[in-house]
Amino acid sequence: MTSYNPKWSRRKFLKTAGVAGVGSILAPAKKLFAASGRLETIPTRSFGKTGVQVSILSLGGIVDFLSNQLLLKQAVNRGITYWDTAHSYSGGRSERGIGKYFAKYPQDRQKIFLVTKSGAWSIKGMTRDLNDSLERMHTDYVDLFFVHGIRSISAMDDDIKSWGERAKKEGKIRFFGFSTHSNMEECLLKGAKLGWIDGIMMAYNYRLMHSDDMRRAVDACVNAGIGLTAMKTQGGGQVKTHSETELKLAGRFLQKGFTDAQAKLKAVWENPNIASICSQMPNMTILMSNVAAAQDKIKLSARDNELLQRFAKETRSAYCTGCTDICESCVEEEAPIGDVMRYLMYCNSYDDYQRAADSFNKIPQEIRTRLTRLDYLMAERKCPQGLPIAKLMREAKKKLGT
Ligand code: SF4
Repeated sequence: MTSYNPKWSRRKFLKTAGVAGVGSILAPAKKLFAASGRLETIPTRSFGKTGVQVSILSLGGIVDFLSNQLLLKQAVNRGITYWDTAHSYSGGRSERGIGKYFAKYPQDRQKIFLVTKSGAWSIKGMTRDLNDSLERMHTDYVDLFFVHGIRSISAMDDDIKSWGERAKKEGKIRFFGFSTHSNMEECLLKGAKLGWIDGIMMAYNYRLMHSDDMRRAVDACVNAGIGLTAMKTQGGGQVKTHSETELKLAGRFLQKGFTDAQAKLKAVWENPNIASICSQMPNMTILMSNVAAAQDKIKLSARDNELLQRFAKETRSAYCTGCTDICESCVEEEAPIGDVMRYLMYCNSYDDYQRAADSFNKIPQEIRTRLTRLDYLMAERKCPQGLPIAKLMREAKKKLGT
């Protein structure tokens, strides 16, 4: 992990970025209005071979939309017409909030590419969750339904395939696929071979997108006509000002008129094979910042990308890439190392303690108890990111455990 160097203080960063640089962060917001005076909406891309055009920015749904209806209205106004939720998000308040919105603005349902997911991983459970989701969201169908968070393509077996076909015939879903943050490359490569996957949402960002394995996996999906949505695009949170590279990076982006968060979105959009970025936008500030990034035509330069990659390299040991097949097979008993790393990221990088703690405490008690007594030596030796797994498991239990 990059250590803190007081030499690179925030004051020095502001001095380096300059007043003009900081001021220019607001510039993209001025571009929100077209010459006609109407709000400009954001670009769209084809979602695989579905024939559907989706907005390149998708509204992530781990948000209490029941008490944030304005976010949904503003999303429609700004052209964010791809909405992503899940049966489990915010204890159902995400889907119920969307339902409340559609009850008030039924005409907007047709504008939205609506995605939900079930983590039940069983026919009975998915049927129950889908019916519940439709009722909660006041709609007869969802555009895309994901099997939520698969860790291996074996989860997408023939029974699941038949279930998806039946749900399509019944008109409850238009398209079918899965989401994954573990072993993504393998899930994508094997998913592309199945021949019946319409869409995939996977963790994908400036840290992950340049590996040969990820490139191959994305290409395979593109060739199979699968629509791809990127999530976790911030790659573990904000660029801080703890090192010379970080300072240069953040200052450089500000001087060009965007933040490092916007730059990370741009890095992903520069791959035309990614149809959309799913982003948590729990408030108007983040929503407007992301809209501005989506509308902004300035591309990252080769030097920008080089600095982003250098930053990724320097902070490598602060980011778990989700290759859980490697570490989890090295411990004697079941331990969801990748999931725990993700919950820690919610807490440490995204400052979302509640989501982190809620997710962590859903792990069965007996597994949580054993997390701190397992031997992670071999897992640590094999971890390609060099993560101190044992220490991080202890940290998670201490910070997030009830
Ligand atoms: S802890 Fe290491 S080996 Fe395990 S998923 Fe994360 S990066 Fe991969």
